[in-house]
Amino acid sequence: MGNAFNLGKIFGIQFRLHYTWFIIFVLITFSFSWLIFPSGYPGWTQLLYWVMGVVTSLLFFASILAHELAHSLVGRANGIPIKSITLFIFGGVAQMTREARSAGAELKMAAAGPACSLAIAGLFYLVFFLTQNTIVPVAAMAFQLAYINAALAIFNLIPGFPLDGGRVFRSILWRVTGNYKRSTRIATRVGEGVGYLFILGGILIIFLRPLGLDWFSGLWLAFIGWFLKNAASSSYRQAQWRGALRGLTASQVMTSNYPVVPSSVTVSQLVQGYIFTNGRGCFLVADEGRVTGVLTLHNIKSVPQPNWGMVQVGEIMTPVDKLKIAHPDQDVLIILEQMDESNVNQMPVVSEGRVIGLITRDNLIRLLRTRSELGV
Ligand SMILES: [Zn+2]
Repeated sequence: MGNAFNLGKIFGIQFRLHYTWFIIFVLITFSFSWLIFPSGYPGWTQLLYWVMGVVTSLLFFASILAHELAHSLVGRANGIPIKSITLFIFGGVAQMTREARSAGAELKMAAAGPACSLAIAGLFYLVFFLTQNTIVPVAAMAFQLAYINAALAIFNLIPGFPLDGGRVFRSILWRVTGNYKRSTRIATRVGEGVGYLFILGGILIIFLRPLGLDWFSGLWLAFIGWFLKNAASSSYRQAQWRGALRGLTASQVMTSNYPVVPSSVTVSQLVQGYIFTNGRGCFLVADEGRVTGVLTLHNIKSVPQPNWGMVQVGEIMTPVDKLKIAHPDQDVLIILEQMDESNVNQMPVVSEGRVIGLITRDNLIRLLRTRSELGV
């Protein structure tokens, strides 16, 4: 998820806003200020239409934020740490640093979002009920927000993974069968099926226009279907990847064949001596047999090219005390979680104070590709 900027932290969770949100914000504001309010409530001033449109959009945005926050807080209370949440065109994506460890935890976390949206819908309906004869613009806005939040809850309860309903569905399968992998496979397949049904429904609407629906609704439905299908397929691949790494330990997947350079080498010597000739992207830095740090292409890129001849590797490496380290018999999935948590792409494997190997994301990807090509 690139192209997002930080909104700040709420309850210790980093919230980010994807740029597509601005598109949806403008679209929603226009549809309220231009279409929905003027056609339902003629006679307001232009200014009032726009003010109510903007306020409704902002409250809609806050509703989605609350939905995601509900997932996160319930998740955290059940031992699933949430690192950040990115709000994008269809809602939000929580970046979990690990998957739920039990079916019950997953069920609670998944159900929390739609439950929150339903509660918000009820609250807005109450506001509508109390103001409908007195403050009509507020009542109009509250009615729209009640409707949107109820729709959001219902849409998210569709039982296709990775929608909330799909997660609920998987947790129930998981509880019943006791098999996490198979439950994920079934839930993601249902997710893909729902996606295809939406696409088919969209196409039928475009060509047959039943119930007075227009081609635009059809296009929109097909687009959501396409999005769902892709999301389900990519969650399936992610689950497969986790499944393939399950049970492997650090010493089984680490590479012991990595270049070691002294910290006094300059960046240009390193680039010419190692990177040009063998395309390595990760180095251990060691002096007199003791590892002092790790150097990656990322560190090198932080130095402007004209200074490469003057800067030594020791100045820009990640020092060993700042590195996360792995133990030889540690579970690879745990190591991957720690890599995600601390945003690093490699971890040295240390045994009895000595570095005996290196685990890199590239290596893991290569391993998985080879295994899947051989079908094992
Ligand atoms: Zn949700």
